[in-house]
Amino acid sequence: MQYAPTVFGDSSGTTSGCPTGLQNLSSNVNAPPYQWSIARMTNALRTGGISAPELAQTHLDRIAARREVNAYINVTGDMATIAAASSDQSRNLPLAGIPIAIKDNITLEGVPCTCGSRMLENWIAPYDATVVERLKAAGAVILGKTNCDEFAMGSSNENSHFGSVQNPNAPGRVPGGSSGGSAAAVADFQAAAALGSDTGGSVRLPAAFCGVVGLKPTYGAVSRWGLVAFASSLDQVGVLGRTVDDTKRVFEVIRGYDPKDSTSMRNLLASPIPETLTIGLPREYYGNGLDPEVRRAVTGTAQALQAAGHRLVDVSLPNSPYTIAAYYIICCAEASANLARYDGVKYGYRSAATQDLSSMYGRTRSEGFGMEVKRRILLGTYVLSAGYFDAYYATAQKVRARIAADFANAFESVDCLLTPTAPTCAFKLGEKLDDPLAMYLMDIYTTSVNLAGLPAISVPCGRSNAGLPIGAQIIGRAFEENLIMSVASGIEEACAM
Ligand code: GLN
Repeated sequence: MQYAPTVFGDSSGTTSGCPTGLQNLSSNVNAPPYQWSIARMTNALRTGGISAPELAQTHLDRIAARREVNAYINVTGDMATIAAASSDQSRNLPLAGIPIAIKDNITLEGVPCTCGSRMLENWIAPYDATVVERLKAAGAVILGKTNCDEFAMGSSNENSHFGSVQNPNAPGRVPGGSSGGSAAAVADFQAAAALGSDTGGSVRLPAAFCGVVGLKPTYGAVSRWGLVAFASSLDQVGVLGRTVDDTKRVFEVIRGYDPKDSTSMRNLLASPIPETLTIGLPREYYGNGLDPEVRRAVTGTAQALQAAGHRLVDVSLPNSPYTIAAYYIICCAEASANLARYDGVKYGYRSAATQDLSSMYGRTRSEGFGMEVKRRILLGTYVLSAGYFDAYYATAQKVRARIAADFANAFESVDCLLTPTAPTCAFKLGEKLDDPLAMYLMDIYTTSVNLAGLPAISVPCGRSNAGLPIGAQIIGRAFEENLIMSVASGIEEACAM
């Protein structure tokens, strides 16, 4: 049965500008080692085609040659060299010798964990996050800590105390945020893959803007121990990779139950993936505000999936219009509580110009936090205050439950949902800095997924006429990462043809 695309203005479009590029590079025999896929790196390491120290060095050289991208806040070259030197003994581990970058809000023992903030500029992490511990145990070589929006609050990486990041595809444009350094590092071959965090889209949006793959796992699928808290009921560690296979290899290593995170879940048995899938297109995600070129690319992707034998159906998520409001109330409320700990006493920045304890608190927080973080603490404190709690916070929680119910309804008749990741391609640096609402609207298709605790993946599905990457998002049922990754692989294949 042919799908009648009632929700699309232009049904004639095909994926414009495919192939998307990066996934093809790894099959080029002459590509330098830093451009290889993880499978190719692993194979070369096992067969002696390259040594782990050589592979680490080619990445460190690449990072040094590309400082203007500003993808890293701290490069841990010495640690990487030492780890690589010992990795030849562990060559059968799943990520033996593979160079990986870590977003700077995830702890790496002995290295500053700044969260992109002046507040934590000099704070040295005393322990490894569980995800970092698992990467190390799998033989990975950690290259350093990547740039990000301050405390992961932002959609463009322009809220970093350490400067903005250039989109490697389009200098002068943002890489997306908040995991902008991680996405730029992967797209620019400054790491084979990277960890990011996703509270409302911070892995998927930069993946879409930089033309890489970004996986936001189910809430509870990956331990948050060692991830600096922003909004704890939404935060999840995710993976950025150049291909779905690269992304999957890293996810397989970091996923799973951790007694140190009470919200982490034991690995549930994944159900088998049907050969023919029913893929829902939520009509609210293709409405006003969606850039026509993004619409054309994602519509073309839907048609390619249909041509591959899957079934497309029109679905509705009726509470979508309330997503951004609910998300920004809940995330600010949780942030105001989580960030209360930065007071100049226990750790981090302390203002020097103080007379007494209370002015020390005030000055430390005024000087240590940037504008966006302060805006959110104020908003969050407001929505939680007596008198406003019911009107804002309690209402947002009710909306959250309805958004989750919309997804549950949709998943009764579909296996997954296909949407754009972002309403536009990467915008220019500075373009939205004076308009927080315009910035927040970049998260219009991603925040609902966090509110509902579901897994989603952004995969490159084409380019705009100006050559900017476009991402398609596949959203799945809880713990069905394998299913959404298989659809993403299908899109990757269709785009490579
Ligand atoms: N852009 C969203 C925000 O600023 C999402 C951030 C995130 O996922 N960490 O809140």
